[in-house]
Amino acid sequence: METTDVKSTTTSALSNFIRDIINEDLKTNKYGGRVQTRFPPEPNGYLHIGHAKSICLNFGLAADYGGRCNLRFDDTNPSKEELEYVESIKEDVRWLGFDWADRLFYASDYFEQLYEYALKLIKKGNAYVDSLSADQIREYRGTLTEPGQESPYRHRSIEENLDLFQHMRAGEFENGAHVLRAKVDMASGNLNMRDPVMYRILKATHHRTGDQWCIYPMYDFAHGQSDSIEGITHSICTLEFEDHRPLYDWYIDQLEIYHPRQIEFARLNLTYTILSKRKLIELVNGGYVSGWNDPRMPTISGLRRRGYTPEAIRNFCDRIGVAKNDSIIDVALLEFCLREDLNKRALRTMAVLHPLKVIIDNYPEGQVEEMEAINNPEDPSMGTRQVPFSRVLYIEQDDFREDPPKKFYRLALGREVRLRYAYYITCVGVVKDEQTGEVIELHCTYDPETRGGGSADGRKIKATLHWVSAVHALPAEVRLYDYLFNKANPCENGADYKTNLNPNSLEVLRPCWVEPNLEGAAPGSRYQFERQGYFCVDPDSSVDSLVFNRTVSLRDSWAKIETKG
Ligand code: ATP
Ligand code: MG
Repeated sequence: METTDVKSTTTSALSNFIRDIINEDLKTNKYGGRVQTRFPPEPNGYLHIGHAKSICLNFGLAADYGGRCNLRFDDTNPSKEELEYVESIKEDVRWLGFDWADRLFYASDYFEQLYEYALKLIKKGNAYVDSLSADQIREYRGTLTEPGQESPYRHRSIEENLDLFQHMRAGEFENGAHVLRAKVDMASGNLNMRDPVMYRILKATHHRTGDQWCIYPMYDFAHGQSDSIEGITHSICTLEFEDHRPLYDWYIDQLEIYHPRQIEFARLNLTYTILSKRKLIELVNGGYVSGWNDPRMPTISGLRRRGYTPEAIRNFCDRIGVAKNDSIIDVALLEFCLREDLNKRALRTMAVLHPLKVIIDNYPEGQVEEMEAINNPEDPSMGTRQVPFSRVLYIEQDDFREDPPKKFYRLALGREVRLRYAYYITCVGVVKDEQTGEVIELHCTYDPETRGGGSADGRKIKATLHWVSAVHALPAEVRLYDYLFNKANPCENGADYKTNLNPNSLEVLRPCWVEPNLEGAAPGSRYQFERQGYFCVDPDSSVDSLVFNRTVSLRDSWAKIETKG
């Protein structure tokens, strides 16, 4: 697999092989000019960023061609599926900005029709009831190098097959006693064609059909026919279904029903990320994360809670485009798309994450000045706000050094810096904890002639610091996130991905201090904390205790590089 980096994918993929196929089909009027797609999730987990790629593709193509896209739940497996997942999937698709209108479907809507299809295949001599055990079926199946063996039940009469299948449906057999199989070719080079199972007995309650059924169609018997029933023109799916296509074609040909065209594309893989519902479930159930919507999760709900915007995700999906061969996208591209969007929309504010108290000795006690600050330099229409300034402030611990290294231009004893939107200050004293020697307080003087951040004599000030007024600032909890995994490929060399979990993926800072303007900020509100990154208010936040998630750091991490000097 190749790794794609940010630079090589900065232009939107306006054309791709799927569009070429659709254009051709429109030209030849293959589907009467229709473009009908669908997004077909199995409701056995929450959607992740990989699903977003498929959603953007399916809904996006439908929109671009004046067609339609259905949302269909492929809910053929009663034991793993839950209503919670159905609801979350609907919410996530809507949040991404897509609308299925009145086209919400379930494969379970078609259970009766699929049963009829099965009867039809039995009657045509294309399907039979097999009474081998699951293990035997596996043994008889053969391998990639050896052909399979026919089941001794393969030549049951049509009457016997019909009778047995009807009794299977009636609940007269235990789980595993029989299955219905397609009679295709036990010697096929494609294992999917070696008499695949169509129906199995599963005495389980289905989230929609309840106990109405005790036989359930296999995904492979349901998927293609569901597409056919819905009149899908282009059934877009991921590459792993390429080998299943001959089987889907076979079913549809034998059934003599409408034939959609299946097109496969490469699934999304991202560095430092796992995109498999099975593994994501393990992270949730194992308590490695706080839930499906943990802000470190690659789920849509996790990204939303983290502060991602639907626009950023859609833009990312456009940029990566679609291809026929597997690749791994650098997660930095996703973050790039996010910053690009947040830069335009996020309100700027000042917040101190690692507070250090600063007392301005020559500033009058009890005096407060309102300083005018710009809400978003990218967008003047977002206006300005007033930020209170007073004698005692907090600045970032990192912005002061007792022994400043070369190229450290921020505060040090005797050094002058600019406070953003306020005054120039000069450090005149350092107070340390007697026991630990830690710097706990700075004394500074300010130059009243520099209000607003400039001076009449134009003297050069290299550093501008953010700050908050101690009596006015609001306390907040800030949650900093890093990648969940410390390896770009968490499964490298067949490793258990759980051994590559990053133990430092969450750091909680408390108390931090934020501008009083953030009082009552609603969950989901997004801000740029100047010089620190983009943050958003977590749902755990309340009027009395603000909680912020760091969505993403600022691209330019000059501050970090500087302090290392
Ligand atoms: P997972 O492997 O995470 O369990 P899945 O393929 O089993 O995913 P489905 O619910 O069957 O999950 O997926 C619904 C649709 O989303 C399918 O059409 C599938 O091809 C597509 N899809 C799933 N994962 C990705 C991915 N990483 N990139 C692109 N499309 C994906
Ligand atoms: Mg699947």
